Order: sequence, then structure tokens, then C-alpha cells
Amino acid sequence: MISAMTRNMRTRAPASAFAVCAMMFVVMAMLPGVAASVGDRLPEFRECLEVCKAENCAPGKPATPIPLHLRLLLWDCASECDQTCQRIITGHRLAAGVNVVQFHGKWPFFRLWGIQEPASVIFSLGNLWAHVAGLRRLRRLVPPSYSLRPWYIGFGTVGMASWIFSALFHTRDFVLTERLDYFAAGASVLYGLYFTAIRVFRLDHPARASVRSVWTVICICLYAAHVGFLTLIRWDYGYNMAANVVCGIIQNGLWSWFSYREWTRTRRFWAVWPGIAVAWVMLAMSLELFDFSPIGGIFDAHSLWHLGTIGPTILWYNFLVRDALNNIQAKERLKD
Ligand SMILES: [Zn+2]
Repeated sequence: MISAMTRNMRTRAPASAFAVCAMMFVVMAMLPGVAASVGDRLPEFRECLEVCKAENCAPGKPATPIPLHLRLLLWDCASECDQTCQRIITGHRLAAGVNVVQFHGKWPFFRLWGIQEPASVIFSLGNLWAHVAGLRRLRRLVPPSYSLRPWYIGFGTVGMASWIFSALFHTRDFVLTERLDYFAAGASVLYGLYFTAIRVFRLDHPARASVRSVWTVICICLYAAHVGFLTLIRWDYGYNMAANVVCGIIQNGLWSWFSYREWTRTRRFWAVWPGIAVAWVMLAMSLELFDFSPIGGIFDAHSLWHLGTIGPTILWYNFLVRDALNNIQAKERLKD
């Protein structure tokens, strides 16, 4: 009897765990990413919201129809009212020459076809394109026999995933889309550090296979701990930022040192490209320190930071291809 019960529980456990996960995802998908800001505490905003909801969303009231493209992006009566009131209050404040304020932890942006932050979405897609084009070039020019190729393809794949989730999050801000964006961005930063060590210290060599295995396990554990902490213990923006910055600084240091070493050794200009790329990324990242209201209701510091990473990504793939072809040529010269 007991063994039958435990067997039953065992077979049911994965199914129920899956059901709980699925339910959590559905709930998270529907939860708007909320954080209190000056804007949503303004009496005029609260009043606007109350009137709008009472007139449009209350049962028995004729609701203003929501166009299909907005409904597809999960805009409903309440969120439509919120968006409309944000625009009305921001319009009044601009006309009165008063500073623009944030609502629910975000600046009020001009919405385009239901997209909450159009500039950030376009620039995320720009980064996605840089990865897609770079990866295509890499696959075409670097032969499969080149030992570092799998890590370069891994870097491109994680990069593409992170920008897809970024575009999704900036299209619609829900708890789920935010989590996915942060986890994918974290994976991309950590993968950057992972493959940096593999290239800089040439851990791809068979003689260093054991060091590589240890390094791989360390990175997998770090990522699992990062996601576990944010999911199970505390969703902490400060910690998340610090973790990414630390990983970023380490890999930037490694690449700067690599560039310096290669430049002094070979005097080839392309050897300094990684150094230029990381300095460029750091410069773009400093934009995140300035949190100004969107210029023209469109371009905020965050969207410009996403714009700033497209150039270094293109440069980055150019370096990877150049470096690979150079290493292959050097190896062939040695054979001759
Ligand atoms: Zn973003």
C-alpha cells in the first residue's frame, strides 16, 4: 500500500511540478511589472484612472473597443486607462513646464502599435541583427575544424536569445518578460566571461581539457546560483546589476590585457579591436548612470545604451573571424 502510494507520488511528482511551473508562468505573464513612482501617486493621475475605469471598465458600462493589435499585445481596459492617463498627465506637465515624472518605475514613452518602449525594441532588434549577421559570417568563414568555433557559436546563440527577450520585455513589461530579459542578459554576460577565459588562456587545447571542465562547471554553478537567488530568495535589482558589472569588468580587463599583449607582439591593428570594443561598451554603459526623461518621449538613457552596443558587436565578430583565420594560417605555416 505504502509502496504503491510512493510509486504513485513519484510518477505524479514531475507532472504536478510541471503544472505548478506552468501556473506560475501564466500568473507571472499576467502580472504587470509594478513599482511605485512619483507619477502614480499624483492625485490628478489617480483621479484620471478612477474616472476612466468607472466609465470604461465597470460592469454594464459600454467599454471603448480596444483594437485587435493592442489586444494581441495583451492591452486590456485597465492597462489602456493607465496608459491614456499617463499620456494626459505628462501632456499637462509638459504644457505647464513642469518636469516629467515616472509611472510604475518607468518613464512615460510614446507607445507605437502597442509597443511600450519602441526605441529600446528597435535597438534590441539592431543588436539581434548584429549577432545574426555576425554568426552567419562566422559560420561561413571559419571552418568547423577550428577548435574555438563551438564557443563562438555558443556566444552568438546566447547573444541572440538575450536580445529576443530584451525586445519582448520592452514591447510589454510583465513580471515574466522582465524575468526572462534579466536571466537571458545574465546568461549572455556570464557566457561572455566563460568564452573570454577559453580564448585568452586557450583552454580549447586538449592538454587543458581538465581546466576547461572545471571552468565550465564553475560557470554553470554560478549561473544556477544567480537564477536561484533571484527566483527563490530575493528579486534584487542592485545585486543583479552588481553581478553583471563584476562579470563585465573581469572580461573587459582580460580583453584589454589580451589586446595589449597581442599588439606589442604582432603590431597588427586588429589585435586591439577587443580592447576598443570593451571600452566602447563601457562608455555606452555609463549612459545607464544618467536616468533622464525620454527625449521627445522616445529616447531614454536605457534605449541609447542598447543603441551603443550594436557597433561593438559588429566589431566583435569581425575580430573573432580575423583572429580565427589568423590562427589557422599560423598553424598551417607551422606544418609547412
Ligand atoms: Zn533593456
